[in-house]
Amino acid sequence: MCCVSRMAVDGGHRDGGCDWDGRWNHVRKFLERPGPRKCFYETISFTILKPFLYQSLQFLLETCKILVIGAGGLGCELLKNLVGNISMIKLDCTQPCICCLINRFIQQIRPKDVGRPKAEVAADFINSRIPGCKVVPHFKKIQDLDESFYRQFHIIVCGLDSIIARRWMNGMLISLLSYEDGVLDPSSIIPLIDGGVEGFKGNTRVILPGMTACIDCTLELYPPQINFPMCTIASMPRLPEHCIEYARILQWPKEKPFGDTSLDGDNPQHIQWVFERSQERAAEFNITGVTYRLTQGVVKRIIPAVASTNAVIAAACATEVFKIATSAYIPLNNYLVFNDVDGLYTYTFEAERKENCSACSQVPQDLQFPPSAKLQEILEYLTENASLQMKSPAITTTLEGKNKTLYLQSVKSIEERTRPNLCKTLKELGLSDGQELAVADVTTPQTVLFKLNFTA
Ligand SMILES: [Zn+2]
Repeated sequence: MCCVSRMAVDGGHRDGGCDWDGRWNHVRKFLERPGPRKCFYETISFTILKPFLYQSLQFLLETCKILVIGAGGLGCELLKNLVGNISMIKLDCTQPCICCLINRFIQQIRPKDVGRPKAEVAADFINSRIPGCKVVPHFKKIQDLDESFYRQFHIIVCGLDSIIARRWMNGMLISLLSYEDGVLDPSSIIPLIDGGVEGFKGNTRVILPGMTACIDCTLELYPPQINFPMCTIASMPRLPEHCIEYARILQWPKEKPFGDTSLDGDNPQHIQWVFERSQERAAEFNITGVTYRLTQGVVKRIIPAVASTNAVIAAACATEVFKIATSAYIPLNNYLVFNDVDGLYTYTFEAERKENCSACSQVPQDLQFPPSAKLQEILEYLTENASLQMKSPAITTTLEGKNKTLYLQSVKSIEERTRPNLCKTLKELGLSDGQELAVADVTTPQTVLFKLNFTA
C-alpha cells in the first residue's frame, strides 16, 4: 500500500509478474508480526471489513476498494502513494493543460497526453508504473454519481480544493449511514480521509461519519477559499472566484486598463474594473455570486500551491488509509495540522462533534426570527452563518397541504417568479410558528430541515 515503486527492496527482484520476492516484506512485518496491537475494526465492531489478522495484506491487495477524489496536486500525490484497487474522480478541467502536467508528473510531460482527460492520464501513468495497481478513472462530477457508486468503497480519500465538494461528499457519506432504533449500524460507515492544502499550510483528518466530527461540524475552521488551478480558471470556471481570477490573472495584464500600473487590491478603481470583467465572465458561464466584496477578497489574498505541502499531506492521508485498511494501528484522532511557513510545526487534536451539526446530528435546525422578518433575512442567515455557509439555498415549505417554493436561485425563471417573496415578511408569506422549512443547497446532497421559531 505505502509507496511501493518498482524498487528492489529487501533483496527482492522483479521477474515479470505483478509481484516479486520480497515485494511486501516491509508491509508483512507490520501486519503479520505478533504484538499487542489492537484491532481497530474490533474496537468499533466493523462487520464488513474486519480483516483477519493474517489476511489483511490479502484484503489490502485484493479486496479493499479505495476512492480518491480529486486529481490535482494532492490527488496525484495520493495515487502515487497507494497501491491496490483504486478508483478516482477528477472534478474539473477536461483538457489537461501543460501546467497541470508539469506540476503533477514532474519529468513526465508527454505531448501525447495533452487533450486527454486528466483522470485518465493519471490513471494510465500509475497503472503502468506500479505493477498490480488498478486505478480506474471516473471523469465525472461527484454530484453525478449516486449512492450505489459510493457504497461500493471501503475508504474514501479526498484531495480537493473545494469546500463545497468536500461538504457534499461528507453529506453523501452521512446519507449512507443506517440506524436501527436510533443506533448507528457500524457496517454502514465508510471512513473519509480528508486532506487539504493552502500554501505552506495543510491538514489531514479522519472522519468516521456518524461517529466523529464531520466536515460541517467544524465548518468555522475553514478560511475563505483562495487558490485555484490555472486550468480551471482558464477553461472551466464553476465558481465566482474562478471568474475573478480570470479577470485578475489573464485579462488585467492583457488589457492594461490603467497603463502599466500593476493591480492594487486597495485601489477601488482597480477592484471595480476586475469586478466588472468578472461579472461578464460569470454571465458567460451562468455563474452567480460575483460581488465587489468577493472580488476584493480574492484579489488581495492569493496563496500558491506548494508541492512539498502536497507531498506531506498526501503521505499523512496514505498512512491513515493504510492504518484503517489493515487495522495495523489506531487511526489519527482525528485532525492533524501542518505548517511550514516559518520553521516546521505540526499538531494533532480531536475535533469534536457539534451537537446540532446541520449535516450529521439528526437534530432539526432552529431558525429564530420575528414574524416581521423578511425572507431575505433568512436567506442571508443561511449563507452568512459560519456554521451553515450555504451558497445558493433553495427554500421550500408546506402551506395548506401544498409544497410551496419560497425562493430558488438556480433556475432563472423560478428565481424571477420567487424573487418578490424575499421582500415579504414571514407573516405575509403565511408562515407560522413551528413551521418547517426544507432547504436544498449545493453543499449537501440532502435537504436540510429547519424549524421556524418566532421570536417576539
Ligand atoms: Zn457534523
